[in-house]
Amino acid sequence: MIVMKFGGTSVGDVQALRRSARIVAERGGPAPVVVVSAISGATRALIGMGRAAAAGDTEVAQAALSELASRHLALVDAFPEVPSADEARARVRDLIDELEPLLRGIALLRDFEPAAQDALAGFGERLSTPIFVCALEAVGCPAGTLDVTRVMLTDDRFGNACPLENDLEAAVRDILVPLLAEGRPIVTQGYIGRTPGGRPTTMGFEASDFTATLLGAALKADEVQIWTDVSGMLTADPRIVADARPVPRLRYVDAAELALLGAKVLHPRSIGPVEEAGVPLRILNSSSPDEEGTLIDAAHRDDRSADITSVALLDGVTAIHVAPEVRNEALFLAVYDLVDRARRTVRLAVASPLGMTLVLDGGEPSPRLREQLATWGTVTVDASVVAVSIVGPGVGRSEVLAEALRALDGVDVRMTVQGASPHSLSLLVSESEGAPAVRQLHDRFFAARRAGAAS
Ligand code: ADP
Ligand code: MG
Repeated sequence: MIVMKFGGTSVGDVQALRRSARIVAERGGPAPVVVVSAISGATRALIGMGRAAAAGDTEVAQAALSELASRHLALVDAFPEVPSADEARARVRDLIDELEPLLRGIALLRDFEPAAQDALAGFGERLSTPIFVCALEAVGCPAGTLDVTRVMLTDDRFGNACPLENDLEAAVRDILVPLLAEGRPIVTQGYIGRTPGGRPTTMGFEASDFTATLLGAALKADEVQIWTDVSGMLTADPRIVADARPVPRLRYVDAAELALLGAKVLHPRSIGPVEEAGVPLRILNSSSPDEEGTLIDAAHRDDRSADITSVALLDGVTAIHVAPEVRNEALFLAVYDLVDRARRTVRLAVASPLGMTLVLDGGEPSPRLREQLATWGTVTVDASVVAVSIVGPGVGRSEVLAEALRALDGVDVRMTVQGASPHSLSLLVSESEGAPAVRQLHDRFFAARRAGAAS
């Protein structure tokens, strides 16, 4: 049994939906679990209308809602021949009807706190599910559905909720397994969950990959497949490096590190569950399903896994530096604790009793966090940085750092993180130098070496 996850671009329009449905029908076996994301742009649209409502722009919010409704209804209309099209249309209308009072509530309260954001953001996945079922029927593959929140119980860390894994395992056994025994694909939602008390949650922006691997692990699936718009994990983001190429095989550790360091083809939380359960993970291209993609498993290095795997760019982060007046052994623990209490995620850190720099997800720290940090020393905040990283089994070799710095000659490297992990080396540079730095490193570690090997 396999779990197949389709991202936003793989369900974003009629062609993509047909292609993805055909992949399930032809390659999914009798009863795969199909995890579907919101159609591309829907989650952003939902958050946008929530913000508009909270700002009192009810007309803007209403217009965005109508547009969201027509986009989804148009997709249903593209499958007029299927028996469940009427049901899907009714389901989309019901969900839109549910959204209206929610937006009114937000507009009345003029408040869009994280719990409300989660309640709203989760509609994207709920809207796309019935449409995917239509697409499957259209290719002759009738499917069942599961409201994922029946099995995906989480804590109440809204926006970044953690699954309650024991509950998940029990619910998968009691609810999902019997559904699969009916012998047809089961379509369900990524990204969303609910608390045991019934409040809607989400597990992090773009976290459908995480849903897929959690379900795959709980089901002890033969494989989890992430179907997306690129042919696997590439040697760099193809939007930055045009000649980046697929990495055929990766170890879990390298994939986890790449995801954490910005390779957004995989959600950072998605590796843990499959690694623990020993379930192989594959990244595949839904526009080009015959390509081999990337296989991620525990395999030791073999002749196909490269020394240096990939170069990644992590943006959307902020660097915070805290410098105490005198050396302070308690600094690390205290600062880390404050950041954690503020629910900020640390991606990279360099620390000594003389000062520390943390690279956090997201923008500037709140005034409150800043104030708290200031009790420990002088605080400097830089939101215009990005981290450029090299990842792979060979990164620990000392000459790699020298080579990386040579490749970045002329770039202002503000911080280096080496040795924290034997599999990665990260360099903090200014935002504007991020993409060029990735290209320079990719040239040095891939193009140049390839040319060298060829000559
Ligand atoms: P989905 O909607 O299917 O989840 P995402 O947009 O989340 O897709 O992830 C796919 C994108 O990740 C690619 O289009 C690519 O631009 C980006 N990406 C960043 N780094 C890498 C990498 N190393 N390999 C492949 N894709 C990458
Ligand atoms: Mg994604």
